[in-house]
Amino acid sequence: MIAEQIKKAIRDIPDFPKPGIVFKDITPILKEPALCDNIIAAFVEQLKGTRIDVIAGIESRGFLFGLTLATKLGIPFVPIRKAGKLPYTIKRKAYKLEYGEAVIECHTDAFEPGQHILIHDDLLATGGTVTAASELIQEMGGIVAGFSFVVELGFLKGRERIAPISDTLVVLAE
Ligand code: 5GP
Repeated sequence: MIAEQIKKAIRDIPDFPKPGIVFKDITPILKEPALCDNIIAAFVEQLKGTRIDVIAGIESRGFLFGLTLATKLGIPFVPIRKAGKLPYTIKRKAYKLEYGEAVIECHTDAFEPGQHILIHDDLLATGGTVTAASELIQEMGGIVAGFSFVVELGFLKGRERIAPISDTLVVLAE
């Protein structure tokens, strides 16, 4: 099963990026091309029937499978990046972190108003990042088609936070 394959490949890194945090390192997945293929196939299967015009990937690990999935579906991929990284004209969104604030940005021509945008990231934790991305997309006239993640940290209850935004949520491993 795909969930078991993913969980087996992910490694836990204690005290990264700071003491007390156990970081889920997904990079070992990327060394297994058959598993990467299976991940894309699982996303395609579970997103069948959902209208998706564009995939928006969250910096930076959301770029990894986000682009591959978009290419597989034959639709555009757009990056949502941290402040100051995108070169063209941008729309930005500030959002609260546990301590302080972060900003995400998107190119103003990333998609057309009315298009259905799937938000993709590697991991769902509190849901704060994808909630901010949803608000950014909606402020730009896009419709949030749903969310896809390789893995979820269930105890942080991110899925409850994002449920009001869209019913479509694909998580391959919990
Ligand atoms: P959230 O906004 O849902 O609290 O955090 C999710 C964001 O932080 C994602 O962009 C994700 O890549 C990153 N993130 C937080 N914790 C982890 C982790 O343990 N492993 C990985 N790979 N990413 C994490």
